[in-house]
Amino acid sequence: MSRTTAPRSRQVIDLPLDVRTQEKAITEKARCVEDGRLATYRPDGRNVERFLALLSRRMNRQLAVSFTGCVHCGLCADACHYSLAFPDDPQMAPVAKADRIRKIFKRHIDWTGRIAPWWVGARRPVDDEDLNELKNVVFGLCSGCRRCTLNCPMGVDTAGLIRFARGLLTELGIVPEGIFNVSRDQWDTGNQMGVSEEDYLETLAWMRDEVRAELGTDTVDIPVDKEGCDFLYVINPREIKFDPRSIGQAAKIFHLAGESWTMPRWGWDNTNFGLFSGDDALGAFVAANAYDAATRLKAKRIVISECGHGFRSTRWEGYGWAGRDQDVPSESVVVTLFRWLEEGRLRVDPGRNPLPVTFHDSCNIARSGGITEEPRRVLARVCADFREMTPNRTENYCCTGGGGLLSMAEYRPVRLEAAAVKARQLEATGAKLVCTMCHNCIDGLTDVIKHYGLDMKVVQILELVDAALVL
Ligand code: SF4
Ligand code: SF4
Repeated sequence: MSRTTAPRSRQVIDLPLDVRTQEKAITEKARCVEDGRLATYRPDGRNVERFLALLSRRMNRQLAVSFTGCVHCGLCADACHYSLAFPDDPQMAPVAKADRIRKIFKRHIDWTGRIAPWWVGARRPVDDEDLNELKNVVFGLCSGCRRCTLNCPMGVDTAGLIRFARGLLTELGIVPEGIFNVSRDQWDTGNQMGVSEEDYLETLAWMRDEVRAELGTDTVDIPVDKEGCDFLYVINPREIKFDPRSIGQAAKIFHLAGESWTMPRWGWDNTNFGLFSGDDALGAFVAANAYDAATRLKAKRIVISECGHGFRSTRWEGYGWAGRDQDVPSESVVVTLFRWLEEGRLRVDPGRNPLPVTFHDSCNIARSGGITEEPRRVLARVCADFREMTPNRTENYCCTGGGGLLSMAEYRPVRLEAAAVKARQLEATGAKLVCTMCHNCIDGLTDVIKHYGLDMKVVQILELVDAALVL
């Protein structure tokens, strides 16, 4: 007797909607839920109607072009690590994922689907089950890496369509629990890990004392809310909660480079779950916190710590979400480091980093952020044995933890199976260290390394620069 197993995509698509943490937030009277900024699920039978109304309201020309421009050539399948890892599962192809929302667009908005739906495969969702399936596709089978978008010959922004669908579902509370929880923290505390102001300030003071002890001078500082500095430094909350060393390393390097800097008391989180959830209002709120801090403190620019989606959100998308001009410019700390090394402000010895190092381009920094060369130029100066990964730069594969997937435990098994592509890429370098300028990628790559039993460790650029410093 033969036994058939459902395709992997089907197993993910069938996962139920879990709203327990939404119920908890209602019970606890979470501020963002009470005032309607973060939606919760309403099982009143009207979600399809709401979804279609939102679809119409949010439609714009760019989305319409991507909805209608696809010729179904299938080339994007070769770009996606999900379809490469599951070649016999057609639902893993980017075009199949986008078609889930494209069918609705065609039936509801496009003239072809309104007149002849059977001809163009147009179809409306019928009930909340259909919307939940869409949720599992757009949140569970895509890391938002934009590799398919970059490789589409027709210029179809599949990743943009997927984010658009995420945003509509977020407004209905039809979201993974992880997305809901982190959004709640970011709305109500200003940072995605719910770090209190007291813990933030205590950690900065602790790191300042560590650097003072290491350098043997009290002139080193980690200033907070200091006015008129060269730059405002914003970080990923993971640095406060799990890896404060990176703040100490930054403080030491900034001190040696001799530029004035400060961190803000409020508006220090450069990460932005609005990018992942598709909620532009959350995106605007978080990004504006940093822009307002820089303006309030009269900083000349914003320097963004090593975080991929934080960089993309703060450097690029946030200005648009918040409707701001780039009055205070922003840059990645790696660009800052590159400039200082070029100017001879930091003395380094590459012999202090002798192990073979490869570089993982974060999707949000290389493909969606335009930074590919500065990190390589820095690594060439501070490491003795640098090896490229193939493919690299804008064609690199995702760490598999992008798109907020690290917060969505229910999709972890399929994420790690899809990571076979990344694991092969890492292993082929023969490197002992994989360097990345993204906190999200650190966790994504660490998962991949552990799952596939690779003999390597993840490091960041600040860490390698710090290790190479000649004091
Ligand atoms: S999204 Fe682009 S690459 Fe993919 S099937 Fe459509 S036209 Fe082809
Ligand atoms: S954005 Fe990345 S993960 Fe998502 S469908 Fe495209 S290639 Fe695949």
